[in-house]
Amino acid sequence: MEQKKRWVVKIRQALYTSASFAYLRITANQRLKPRKHLRFETDVVDHCNLNCKSCHHFSSVADQNFVKTEVFEKDFARLSLLAGRNNENIDIMGGEPLLHPEISTLAEIARKYFDGPVNIVTNGLLLEKMNEVFWESCRKNNIRIVVTSYPVKLNVKRIKELAKKYSVKLKIRSLFMNKHSWCKLPFDLSGKQCITENRKLCITVNKCIFLKDGRLSACCLPLVADRFNNYFSKNTETETAGFCAGNFTHSGLVARTTLAATEDDSIDIYKAKDIGEVYEFLSKPMPFCRYCRIKSWEIGIEWGVSKKEITEWI
Ligand code: SF4
Ligand code: SF4
Repeated sequence: MEQKKRWVVKIRQALYTSASFAYLRITANQRLKPRKHLRFETDVVDHCNLNCKSCHHFSSVADQNFVKTEVFEKDFARLSLLAGRNNENIDIMGGEPLLHPEISTLAEIARKYFDGPVNIVTNGLLLEKMNEVFWESCRKNNIRIVVTSYPVKLNVKRIKELAKKYSVKLKIRSLFMNKHSWCKLPFDLSGKQCITENRKLCITVNKCIFLKDGRLSACCLPLVADRFNNYFSKNTETETAGFCAGNFTHSGLVARTTLAATEDDSIDIYKAKDIGEVYEFLSKPMPFCRYCRIKSWEIGIEWGVSKKEITEWI
């Protein structure tokens, strides 16, 4: 019976993957064109209270870090000026954004600078404990709460009641999420993957645009890679003192543990002359894509808490 179930999962996964890649290939030209409207996401907290394995933002191996409200406001003010307050979408996320002690102020700042949709994207675990100031800030600033569901216990009924009580828009994503709905994007640490092919098959490129410290990138990875690099350069054994930091030994092989991002992977929003230059930049190939093994996306794998092992990402 178990064997049969595993086969059903595998077949479903293969069908889903091939259908997704076919769709992405067909729509590649359209998706890779310079954007017309601004959308971006930003992590206000690096770490997380759930620590999923293979976390795409490397939050399960991130040190504790909260964005400073001054930095957040400065970047939002600059992007607002470039985009004329217009935004297609903004996601305030993490890590877990509700861990930020000033999340209510951040919601207020986001609305101060943009007129379009702003969401706080959370795993929902802290929602029941959030105080009135938080809920009132979401209501007053028209911030929607988006709960990404994980296979963990969540009092959905109570969360819905709270949202209703404070008249806050709430969206609960994928209520059917189960233990086998997880995914992993494996990395090629040698950076030898084809950038052009990866971009065609990547669902996040030029869509999940990411803001950090005054820079925008076509996806989060170049701007969060330091979390991965910091953790694994400290916590992976090196064979001898002769190897540079960032190398490790694994089954007798020497491999790099660094996902190296450069300035060519993101654009400085303070140096961009206008929003057109930003959109143009984000639509161009970025060197960091050489690390992704997009064709090996593992979809429908078992969810679990991270053991902070490098194999969760490679
Ligand atoms: S809930 Fe899981 S996937 Fe989301 S940021 Fe936290 S660790 Fe990452
Ligand atoms: S770095 Fe990877 S996930 Fe990000 S846009 Fe490139 S291929 Fe996609």
